[in-house]
Order: sequence, then C-alpha cells, then structure tokens
Amino acid sequence: MPISPKDRVTWIRLLRTDVEDFNREWGQLPAPQGIDLTGADLRGADLKGVELVGANLAGANLEGCQLDQASLSRADLTRARLRGANLFATLAEGADFTEADLSEANIEVANLNESTVERARLDRATIDASSVQRLKGARASFAGATLEKLAFLGCKLSEADFEGATLDNVEFWDTELARAKFTGATARGLTFERSDLTGVNLGELRGDEPTFVGENTGVGVRLRARSVAEEHLYMALHPCACGHPVAPGSLGHSLWFEGNDNISVFQGKCAGCQRTLRLEFAVPADAPQPPRLGGAAPSQIIDPGEFYLESDRAILRGDVARAIACLEEILKFIPPGGGEVPASAFTGRGAEVRSKSPLRFERELLEARLGAYHTP
Ligand SMILES: [Zn+2]
Repeated sequence: MPISPKDRVTWIRLLRTDVEDFNREWGQLPAPQGIDLTGADLRGADLKGVELVGANLAGANLEGCQLDQASLSRADLTRARLRGANLFATLAEGADFTEADLSEANIEVANLNESTVERARLDRATIDASSVQRLKGARASFAGATLEKLAFLGCKLSEADFEGATLDNVEFWDTELARAKFTGATARGLTFERSDLTGVNLGELRGDEPTFVGENTGVGVRLRARSVAEEHLYMALHPCACGHPVAPGSLGHSLWFEGNDNISVFQGKCAGCQRTLRLEFAVPADAPQPPRLGGAAPSQIIDPGEFYLESDRAILRGDVARAIACLEEILKFIPPGGGEVPASAFTGRGAEVRSKSPLRFERELLEARLGAYHTP
C-alpha cells in the first residue's frame, strides 16, 4: 500500500532510516513535491543519493547530513540548516537556499546553476569545481570559505561577503559584485570579466593581482578621506594625468552609506583629454566640520608637503582658517615627543617640498608659524 502524501511522519522516518525505500515510494507518487517536509529534523542523516527534486524542505534541519549525489533541484531549502553537510556531486539546480545556513558545508563538483543563496551563510564552506552559473546570491556570506576552480557566470552577488576567503582559480564573468567585501581574502588566479565592482575595495585583497578582462564597472581604489573638505582638497591637488584640473562639479556623483562611512564616487570624462576619471572615497559619517580637515589622526591621502603648499596658497587668497587647518594637519604627522615630521610621512608630491627645505617641517617652526596666523 502506498504511503499517503499526507503522512508526513512516515515520510520523515523513511528519510532517516532507508533512503532507497524512500526514493522508491517517492518515485511512485504523481506529485511528490506536495509532501510537506518543512522543518523536518533530519540532523546527521545519511541521505546519499536521495531524490528530493522540487521538495519542500523550508526550515528543515539537515546539519551534518550526507547529501552526496542527492537530487535537490528546484527544492525549497529556504532557511534550511545545512551546517557541515556534505553536498559532494549534489544536483541542486534552481534550488532555493535563501537565508539557509551552509556554513562549513562541503560543496564539491555540485551543480548549483540557477540556484538562490541570497543572504545565505556559506562561512568556511568548501566550494570546489562546482557549477555556479546564474547563481542569485546577493548579501550571501562566504566569510572564510575556500572557493576553488569556479566560474561565476552571470551571477548576482551584490554585497556578498568574501571576508578572509581563499579564492583559487575563481572567475567572475558578467557578475554583479557591487559593494562585495574582500577584506583579508587571499586570491590566486582571480579573474574579473565584464563584472560590476562598484564600491569594491580590491586593495584589501591579498595574494596575486587579479586579471581584468573586458570592461569591468567600478574598478578602482577607495581613498579614505577624513572629511568631505579633505576629499575635495585631494581632488584639487591631483589633476588628471594630462594636467587638466579635476572639477568635482563636472563629474557625476553617487553617494551611499556603508557601515559607518559615506561612500562617495565621482565619475566622468576629463574636460581636457576625455579620458574616464573615477575617484572613490570613504568618509566617516561623523567627520569633523570645516575648516577642520580631519580628526586627531593624520591624513592617509594627502602628505605633509602637500598640506604645506595648500597652507601657502590659502594665505595668498586670504583664507587664514584654511592655512591654520593645513598647518595643524602637518603637526599631526609628528609622533608624540618628536621634533619634526619624519621623512617617511612624505609619500606624494610633498617629498619635493621637503627636499627644498626640511627645516619647514620642524615642530618649533610650524608652531611659530601657526602662532603668527592665530594673531590677527
Ligand atoms: Zn585629462
């Protein structure tokens, strides 16, 4: 006598005890997908080769399960718990893993094409030589995961988190990766082709330099400014390679919030040479107000010599407040108890200013000058 599709208890017991029998019974049903397996407790079960195409397993507990060679295509696994599960050669095409926990899972030579892993956790999972075409995984977490021999093709991975992950021979083609995080990730043989990297800080990536093929969107270095005033000063100090000044007003501007930072992107064509310019800044949301250019820590994007030049220019145009702010910035580079700005602080064009007259960067002279500016 066939098991009734409504007999949930028997179906779950069969899954736990005899997968072959389950497959036989399941295969005889005209519409097996209708069986309610939501929230089923199948922890640690040996489900090798189980046939669960289109099954409703939302919220099921599959922690530590053997799911190798299982058929999970088009199954509903939203919020399912699959921590430490073995998905070796598992077929999960079009499966829905939204908000599922796949931490520490082994996903080797599996098929995840067209599947959804939005907001899913794949922390410390191993994903090796699996098919991941048209994967939908916005805000998925791959923190500490090992990703090997994968070609993400046409995937949606905006705001995905690859923090501390290892990426070995991974390719992203036509993939949305806007604001994805690669903090402390290590890459070898990483390729980006026609992908959207808007807001991605690839400077945080360790290992080999990635390969860029075709037009990738939003590739660039994120500059850490301490205030909007510093961001604008940076642009004033750094003309286009052709020498034409960069006018922020002539560029398109987008702004979004990320963590405690405002991310600010200026993009457009240089009025002088028509080349594409792109500048991306992170500015803390609680940045100090003008005329101050930053807090107590020294600038990471403008060097002391550049501040010195700007201070001179400010005096010439009668902007004493700006001149004072710039001198204060130079003093921030002097270590506590130190008498002068260390030579190592000059990283940009300011090195030339220093070589002309290193004396200008002694604390005593800087403070004397500051005192003079403060006296009306
Ligand atoms: Zn130019």
